[in-house]
Amino acid sequence: MPTIFSQIAAGEIPARVVYEDETTMAFLDATPLAPGHTLVIPKDEYPRLNDVPADVASELYATIHQLVPAVEAAVDADASTVAFNNGEAAGQEVPHVHCHILPRFEGDGGSNVHGIAG
Ligand code: 5GP
Repeated sequence: MPTIFSQIAAGEIPARVVYEDETTMAFLDATPLAPGHTLVIPKDEYPRLNDVPADVASELYATIHQLVPAVEAAVDADASTVAFNNGEAAGQEVPHVHCHILPRFEGDGGSNVHGIAG
């Protein structure tokens, strides 16, 4: 059974896609912890970071690197928490590698990316 993110990558279920290329995709989190909360995925399904081939990891990082300032600018954030929950015990709910780009604002009191507090 493909993950929900594979189904989004395949266009089978809707998402608010903000970026897409051959290898990666980014879309808004369905339950955002802040305005602009974005998820970046490899289109192919890998459960954990350790499973991602080096060339795909490189593409994924390039997308993250490009989107972090764009997401911050889009919602006028002061900073961002950029995080992977890598494995169930770390709070990973969807077993398809994804990076959270969570916009942060001065005095926001700390948000929590399913286990990553700041
Ligand atoms: P995790 O806890 O695995 O690091 O984060 C999974 C994230 O995926 C959560 O922030 C959750 O809100 C988001 N999410 C789960 N299902 C969907 C979905 O169907 N569409 C979108 N856009 N986000 C989802």
